[in-house]
Amino acid sequence: MDKEYYDNQKEKILIVDDSPDHLRLLSSMLVKRGYQVNCVTDGEMALYAIKADLPDLVLLDIIVPVIDGYRICQALKSHDKTAHIPIIFVSGLDSEIDKVKAFKAGATDYITKPFFVDETFLRIENHLKICRQKKNLHQILQKNIQEKKYIEDELNQSRTLLAGVLNSSLDGVAAFEAVRNNHGKIINFRWIVANPLAAMMLGETKDSLEGKLLFEKLPGHLLDGLFDVLVQVVENCIVFDKEHYSSADGTWFHIVAVKLGDGFAITLRDINEKKQMEIRLKEANSELQYQANIDSLTQVANRRRFDEYIAQEWAICAREQQYLSIILCDVDYFKFYNDAYGHQAGDECLFRVAQGMNLAIKRPADVVFRYGGEEFAVILPFTEGEGALKVAQGIREEIKKLKIIHDLSQASHYVTLSLGVASIIPSSQFSVESLIANADRALYEAKSLGRDRIVYKAVELPIG
Ligand SMILES: [Mg+2]
Repeated sequence: MDKEYYDNQKEKILIVDDSPDHLRLLSSMLVKRGYQVNCVTDGEMALYAIKADLPDLVLLDIIVPVIDGYRICQALKSHDKTAHIPIIFVSGLDSEIDKVKAFKAGATDYITKPFFVDETFLRIENHLKICRQKKNLHQILQKNIQEKKYIEDELNQSRTLLAGVLNSSLDGVAAFEAVRNNHGKIINFRWIVANPLAAMMLGETKDSLEGKLLFEKLPGHLLDGLFDVLVQVVENCIVFDKEHYSSADGTWFHIVAVKLGDGFAITLRDINEKKQMEIRLKEANSELQYQANIDSLTQVANRRRFDEYIAQEWAICAREQQYLSIILCDVDYFKFYNDAYGHQAGDECLFRVAQGMNLAIKRPADVVFRYGGEEFAVILPFTEGEGALKVAQGIREEIKKLKIIHDLSQASHYVTLSLGVASIIPSSQFSVESLIANADRALYEAKSLGRDRIVYKAVELPIG
């Protein structure tokens, strides 16, 4: 390094001396060794020369015309641009006072005339070497400062970019680091960064969250099992992607959490509106489903629902090897009722009969249907003949209690029902139709026996 420096950059040395002999001697010694040398013979010229072209070192006589060496030295040391230049006094003055005065003025070294050439050169060379080292250090320092500034600028740009992305995100975005106990177990998570939306979703400000513990800010979420899930994200790299209901504030979030260092990054999306829409849609669907299954006149289940329900319960009772019973019933002499009281009264009568039947059934699985016209059906899963007969009897009593006047009935003064009951343990040997057909036969028999009664028929295996 030094060699290269020598070869390429010869330092500039200014010699200030009013003695031509000394100037010649010093100058020739330094030129011989490759330095660029400039010589002046008085103080004023010295200051001009320095101002015009800064030297790397000054050899300075004390007694020179116009401005003496001390003042030249003081002038150079008092200016930032020249303060660093080493000044070696070369003087015939030999007293301690002169040397002290020179060093106080800022001298780097002091050589007494007459001087020894080699010693003088070595001193000059030493000071220049120190200068070079200082210069190198300064350059390295400047380079480091520049690199640091560049890195800081890059970092600031990245931060600005990141903040811009985070702040413009329609999702809450945050990052956390794991907080572990002495055994390495995760006991909480600390917020590293949160965008304003993430903070807002939690009813906080961005600054109030950073550095804080997650489950101190959101203690309610511990109960939701969220903590355990987030531990899994960090410990087992499991991606958490779920719609999460916060019972603490009654809000739905779509949460995606992925491992990030010894912690996780999370995005939060408020999906309350979507969830509410889903709930409304579900309610609307249920209402539609209800409407599709209900007979509008009597407000009990309709024939369509009967077909669905009996198929469903047939399968269940077949699997469980349990009885399935049905009741089919007709309003007795209903045609006469319509003729006597009109269709509006007939409709009213059917409504009251249906509601009366509903009062007689007790279990949620037992269902009344309008089977067609003035005909009704009841499906009784997990019910054998005896139980079905009890329900049929209960229905008769409820209808009697209604006391709907029916003067044209040949069975009673009031509206009555004829009921056919059938039961079966469903199996592959039988069909739903065989059960319905048996109930229908029982109903026919009840009618032919004079109406206002119940007939029971078990389904039997076909003979042969
Ligand atoms: Mg002199």
